[in-house]
Amino acid sequence: MINRNGIGVSPGVAIGEALVVGSEDFRIPQRFISRKQVQQELERFRQALQHVSEEIAENERLANEEIGVLYGAIFSAHLQMAQDPKLIAEIETLIRDHCYSPEFASSRTLRKYAKRFQSLGNAYFAERAVDIYDLEKRILRHLLGEQRESLADLTEPVVVLAHNLTPSETAGLNREFVLGFATEIGGRTSHTAILAAALEIPAVVGLGPFLADVSGGETVLLDGTTGEFCLEPDDETLSRFNASRERHQSTLHRLQSMNELAAETIDGVRIKVLGNIEFPQEAEQCQHRGADGIGLYRTEFLYLGRKNTPSEEDHYEAYRQVIQAFPEQLTIIRTLDLGADKIPGWMSHQYDEESNPALGLRSIRLSLNHLDMFKTQLRAILRAAVGVQVGIMFPLVSSLLEFRRARMAVREVIEDLDEQGIPCNRDVLLGIMVEVPATVIMAEEFAREVDFFSIGTNDLIQYTLAADRSDPEVEKYHSASDPAILRMIEMVVEAGRKHDVPVSVCGQMSSDPKYVPVLIGLGIRQISVSPHAIPEIKEVIRSISIDQAVETARYAKSQELARDVESYLTRELQKLLSR
Ligand code: PEP
Ligand code: MG
Repeated sequence: MINRNGIGVSPGVAIGEALVVGSEDFRIPQRFISRKQVQQELERFRQALQHVSEEIAENERLANEEIGVLYGAIFSAHLQMAQDPKLIAEIETLIRDHCYSPEFASSRTLRKYAKRFQSLGNAYFAERAVDIYDLEKRILRHLLGEQRESLADLTEPVVVLAHNLTPSETAGLNREFVLGFATEIGGRTSHTAILAAALEIPAVVGLGPFLADVSGGETVLLDGTTGEFCLEPDDETLSRFNASRERHQSTLHRLQSMNELAAETIDGVRIKVLGNIEFPQEAEQCQHRGADGIGLYRTEFLYLGRKNTPSEEDHYEAYRQVIQAFPEQLTIIRTLDLGADKIPGWMSHQYDEESNPALGLRSIRLSLNHLDMFKTQLRAILRAAVGVQVGIMFPLVSSLLEFRRARMAVREVIEDLDEQGIPCNRDVLLGIMVEVPATVIMAEEFAREVDFFSIGTNDLIQYTLAADRSDPEVEKYHSASDPAILRMIEMVVEAGRKHDVPVSVCGQMSSDPKYVPVLIGLGIRQISVSPHAIPEIKEVIRSISIDQAVETARYAKSQELARDVESYLTRELQKLLSR
């Protein structure tokens, strides 16, 4: 049994069979064989090994001829490994004496050696570990042949285990068969984490290296709330996770009563709770859970997980679907936030060179650099917004000039549509995400020009505290509890108040119930949250008064350290919900 703790990013308990996803998606369908099969399986293993050796020898010959013997030597080392009698004997013993399938026996043995090399901790040995994984893949490819299964065509439920999943890969997960996923890297507010929550797939990220211990097919347990992860559990652990799963189900059941109730404080102040979505179909879930509209539609997911660029009609259809779920309420459509970790395949070559993508050509900067693409999106939004209340929100705006250029693009698109006689909504609201410290500092100037602010705490924290939102190593630095973040939120609220510009918060901070009182206390009256969090957030709002919230914010702001704020807010939430 292996127990680990990572970062729970999407609630729910998953119990199932491990599917390890590497650069190639292998799954070992069967771990054990019957005694009768041993001889035949040994034969299958030897044949696969023979093919692998031939393949490597051919690669060696090609490398020698085409690029030189120095490179051919790489393959000769692989060949020596594939033909090492000690290694072969070890795998065959597992097949013969322990009735392991050849796939499982090869993977187990090779991973054991790879792990040993990795633990020696220098670059040379780390490279050798990579060679061993390569050999493992080759052997599995030959053994599994047609049985190779990719994430796209799963046919049975699995728990996906990977070093990392990109936002595009996560967007493509099949909810029917992926019970949950766990990754070695990743942070609480990474886009992968946000997507897991959107897809309502229980997930734990940032577990650190563990894949060398997994071959696939083992039983895995994970708890997306607590971040607990267990491989090959004993009976006691299994029944503990089963109990957590039941508790989670009954909490969901209890919270269903919130769907019909308004988000109103004890003293009758209405707080608007809107939904954050990545896929159009989530709008309906938000509506079902009683949201007050859509506060953030991350439209870049129209681009991720597909091979071609969406057409104006693709955009239009998606926006209509979202708007139709809330015909009487506000829908805020964020323009493309591509770049950094959200790169569609066809764009990736342009970004290979970026040494620091989070500070590179992303979001509104990228849209302004690709005006045609940007205007296609704007046309679709303006057309879809006819007769309804829609806000266009620009991501990662860092200067007034950027906002003005984006606004200019909207005006030009309206003119074009008018000239073509195509109906559009000329009164859409134009707002910005506040995600860059410079924008907070200039909030008063922005407030004279924008129709609304939405604070994106995921990025704001990343850029203010210099802590990568996707890196578990700096997870503790990426904290919404930091007094600097609370003060920044207050600055934006203040600027909004002076100029009568609504301010909402749409980063993951607002989906975390412990921050709801402090946000209300800081003057926030509208938040936008992950769909699954809507009922829980409403429950907190309905249990607090404005005076209490103001007192919570006052105390939190008076603290010097993030950890003191965090433990205070955790205690306050417990008190609130236990009343
Ligand atoms: C944010 O940065 O807080 C935000 C809501 O935008 P995203 O998570 O999509 O970067
Ligand atoms: Mg952001």
